[in-house]
Amino acid sequence: MAANLLDYDLEGLAVLCERLGEKRFRATQLFRWIHQQGAAQFDDMTNLAKSLREKLKTDFEVQAPKVLKQQISKDGTIKWLFDVGNGDAIETVFIPEEDRGTLCVSSQAGCIVGCRFCSTGHQGFSRNLAVSEIVGQLWFAEHFLRKHLNTTERVVSNVVMMGMGEPLLNYEPVLNSLRVMLDDHGYGLSRRRVTVSTSGLVPMMDQLGRDCPVALAVSLHAPNDTLRDDLVPLNRKYPISELFAACKRYLAAAPRDFVTLEYCMLQGVNDLPEHALELVKQVCGEDGNNAWCKLNLIPFNPFPASGLTRSPRERVMAFAKILTEAGIVTTVRKTRGDDIDAACGQLAGDVKDITNVQKRITRRRTIMLKPVVPSGPVFHQDVRHA
Ligand code: SF4
Repeated sequence: MAANLLDYDLEGLAVLCERLGEKRFRATQLFRWIHQQGAAQFDDMTNLAKSLREKLKTDFEVQAPKVLKQQISKDGTIKWLFDVGNGDAIETVFIPEEDRGTLCVSSQAGCIVGCRFCSTGHQGFSRNLAVSEIVGQLWFAEHFLRKHLNTTERVVSNVVMMGMGEPLLNYEPVLNSLRVMLDDHGYGLSRRRVTVSTSGLVPMMDQLGRDCPVALAVSLHAPNDTLRDDLVPLNRKYPISELFAACKRYLAAAPRDFVTLEYCMLQGVNDLPEHALELVKQVCGEDGNNAWCKLNLIPFNPFPASGLTRSPRERVMAFAKILTEAGIVTTVRKTRGDDIDAACGQLAGDVKDITNVQKRITRRRTIMLKPVVPSGPVFHQDVRHA
């Protein structure tokens, strides 16, 4: 079987070239053809010696995962379903905005973490993705969009690893993929424009800080350990105090001076004023430092199996107001692509679950989160889910 050159970072290609009896600089030429020009045919790589092209044709290929389906939202968001073999399919989303184009990339086929509000989490886990499958999503999207838009300019300006999977549970392939994305001979993205989102794998956050500190987002979703244990089960291993300490350590190397805390607003579960006040306390800690993070409030995108509902807009804004008044920089995320199930937490692909995630989630639902009766007159008309 031909080896896929999308699996190699520049250093890996240099070693490969040496093994083929070529000079190391050939690797740079090859890398640029693949990632900057989007070339998949070795005959198109005209500044490579014919003898090298022939060698490459024998044993190598440039192959992104195949597109099974493409959907375009009315807001311009594009979602692709990619075949990654053996019945597994992953999803990737491109979100165009005036000043940027963001690609949301998957790192695993499914996910073992099993967050309650996440469609991927409900599907279970099949396997980790290879570098060629992670970078392949970017390679395909960038060059497809350039052709589609008839431009030679870069289209994908930002990458967020917020698609299917927990990136830090697939560490080495994710790390090598980041290196390809950041390489000036590859996509040349700045560390500020590449974000890894984690559910809070503390030791690997430290490792990422040492190896390749890109922007960091953390899925928080709860103001206390009891609730987070249920929403993000990884919390039982790495509770909020350890998670926040790891975030602060990460900042020493990070390209931004804050970590983004993602908070999915679930009606009657984590969206009440008392939750916001508790969150303020958690973030500020004993030293009152509220500058180390930004809160990103995300409207929940309901899916039937979750048993959860979206917080009303007024409640989200009231929650944001409490945080903002406490001096915490807070944004409310715009929902994009929800008509094609491409919004946050909606990516599901199609995976063969080799774990018992689905069973565990169903069991957890039966001992589920008790909706909280809100206090204060502002919210008395809201209906909580059963
Ligand atoms: S939110 Fe992330 S970590 Fe949690 S189940 Fe979904 S993909 Fe996995």
